[in-house]
Amino acid sequence: MIELGLIGYPLEHSWSKDLHEQAMQVLGMEGNYHLWEAPPSSQGQEIIASRLRALREGKIDGFNVTIPHKETLLSHMDRLTQGARAIAAVNTVFLDPGGEVVGENTDGPGFWADVHRVLPSAGGKKQRRALILGAGGAARAVAYALSTREWEVGVAARRVSQAESLAAQFRDQPGKVEGHPLTDRAALDSAAYDLIVNATPVGMDPDAGRSPWPDSWTFPTHGVAYDLVYNPPQTPFLQQAEDRGLKAVNGLGMLVEQAALAFECWTGVDPPREEMLRAVR
Ligand code: NAP
Repeated sequence: MIELGLIGYPLEHSWSKDLHEQAMQVLGMEGNYHLWEAPPSSQGQEIIASRLRALREGKIDGFNVTIPHKETLLSHMDRLTQGARAIAAVNTVFLDPGGEVVGENTDGPGFWADVHRVLPSAGGKKQRRALILGAGGAARAVAYALSTREWEVGVAARRVSQAESLAAQFRDQPGKVEGHPLTDRAALDSAAYDLIVNATPVGMDPDAGRSPWPDSWTFPTHGVAYDLVYNPPQTPFLQQAEDRGLKAVNGLGMLVEQAALAFECWTGVDPPREEMLRAVR
């Protein structure tokens, strides 16, 4: 029996259980994916400690981590992968063959895998300027995925200090990363981006029906608009992009990719992405 799960709070809207249980079922593996709600309190800390103990004792095979614990789990790991250290957040935890608890972050590679699917030229030498809206954990994963591949990245946040601190964090990457205020129309109202990414939660509840890109600003004129939000599948941000004739993609593909990569960390098996996608679509 494979025992997996998710630590976070709240978890009532999570799709991870469907994704992973579908993968196990299609592969003929017996197992469960549990939802372990861990509120940001001492009770939540006890749940995290008990799951880490269970992992070390071999009672479970690994787990995912989501809001609000992606950063707090960092200090509980014996070892961090290069990506998790650079992004400064953990979304996948597993035990390596030497018995060490490893923190991984599959959001960055999951994003890149999906972008590569929708923008096949992403790995080439052209089309290498991106603008990320938001500067939280998911924006760090996206900035890492792009800047390590020599993309030039602008990060725009309503708190410019957050965008600048993200840029400083990635200053040693091959691609240049710059922070901007989300109100700086001169810096952002540009036709020069090949990829524009919404890494804010604007577009989903409680901000459903809104876009982080002000309606009065000109939307970039070419390339791909990628919204990390996947529920609802069509957001005002994606609608703005479509209205301008851009290719518009929601974050469902990234969700499936980051889950598939986590599944591989735990089981060593590359799971069937199409079937996983079908389970949540
Ligand atoms: P986070 O760490 O809380 O960061 C959110 C960012 O958005 C922050 O910079 C925040 O600024 C900004 N923001 C929030 N509300 C805003 C508003 N009304 N206007 C402008 N900026 C606003 O969250 P996260 O973990 O990065 O997640 C961001 C989004 O990505 C969520 O919707 C999440 O579900 C999605 N996501 C999707 C996937 C996927 O697989 N598709 C994976 C990870 C995350 P402040 O700090 O000032 O609030």
